[in-house]
Amino acid sequence: MWQAEVRVDLDAIRHNVEVLRAGTTAEVMAVVKGDGYGHGMVPSARAALAGGATWLGVATLAEGLVLRKAGLEVPVMAWLLSPGLPLHQGVEAGLDLSAGTVELLDDLVRAAGRVGRTARVHLKIDTGLARGGATAAGWPVLVEAAAKAQADGHIEVIGVWSHLVHADVPGHETTDRQLAAFDEALAVAERLGVTPPYRHLANSAATLTRPDTHYDLVRPGVAVYGLSPVPGETFGLRPAMTARARVALTKRVPAGQGVSYGHTYVTERETTLALVPLGYADGVPRHGSNIGPVQLGGGRRTIAGRVCMDQIMVDVGDDPVVAGDIATLFGPGDDGGPTATDWADAIGTINYEIVTRFGSTRVPRVYDGTAGVPPVEVTR
Ligand SMILES: *Cc1c(COP(=O)(O)O)cnc(C)c1O
Repeated sequence: MWQAEVRVDLDAIRHNVEVLRAGTTAEVMAVVKGDGYGHGMVPSARAALAGGATWLGVATLAEGLVLRKAGLEVPVMAWLLSPGLPLHQGVEAGLDLSAGTVELLDDLVRAAGRVGRTARVHLKIDTGLARGGATAAGWPVLVEAAAKAQADGHIEVIGVWSHLVHADVPGHETTDRQLAAFDEALAVAERLGVTPPYRHLANSAATLTRPDTHYDLVRPGVAVYGLSPVPGETFGLRPAMTARARVALTKRVPAGQGVSYGHTYVTERETTLALVPLGYADGVPRHGSNIGPVQLGGGRRTIAGRVCMDQIMVDVGDDPVVAGDIATLFGPGDDGGPTATDWADAIGTINYEIVTRFGSTRVPRVYDGTAGVPPVEVTR
């Protein structure tokens, strides 16, 4: 018997990568940072590779090393690197590492020297997001340093890349400006003798809506997990995650009964309350108090009162709900139940955050499907 669980459909992940691949001639880097957006990094990576991804993308060095330890040998790029990290471990593991400053590039050169290998480097140009990467002013200096390090055999420039600001609004003029800035940075790099095989810019939204951003490689994340990055569109993607729990108990209460901490919900009439054993320790946003949707009994309900650490209450009226019934917070939405996108809309965030929150360790994660699951060896 299970009390609460997060189910992840690996075949849905494979299907979503197939959808993404069908829309591009570029290679696909499946982004599996943040524990695979809460879906489990390694199983999600394997399912994405089964769907035709040829690269994996992560934020941190540690994430990249975990993928290598799991035996994944495809190109893995890590892009959020701070000075002082054991970068030599990344070089030794053959990870692709991003550099947006001369200082980090120097660190990579030293790391390469330490392990006697050539570092695989992607130079980052900031085309407008103003997060990581070299500014246009700093770009020639970074490229010149990279060209020299490449000539000396310390690094190989595998990629030049950037990240978009407004891709979730297809046709946004900022994307056009960023594309122009990216092309200019590529032209500067070429003049300085750096012509990497991989130029990449597109996240999920751009992969799905802006072919002119695809270049040689696209970096979809949220769409891999079946969630749309663009409001009102689904693109044929299948949400991979379902979060659900079995009702722990029900009780009849009279009209005027305050429910949960602070009594922010008060029953209007005699009704049945159901206790659902999922709370903010499991990923349910506390901002979902009195507004988060739950599929239970005959239809879609709303959380009654405050979300607690371990549990929520649902007012099911006169529906014949009993202990053991399944309450679904979100899933693929096939049966009219809520999706992670519905949850995000209800509480004013993005679907990315909803699924990523449910990567906590208390609720067991259960995998459905076979995509990317290594075959079990049978010994006779
Ligand atoms: C997270 C991330 C992505 C994936 O973005 P989605 O919107 O989830 O597709 C791509 N590139 C970088 C640099 C990222 O940080």
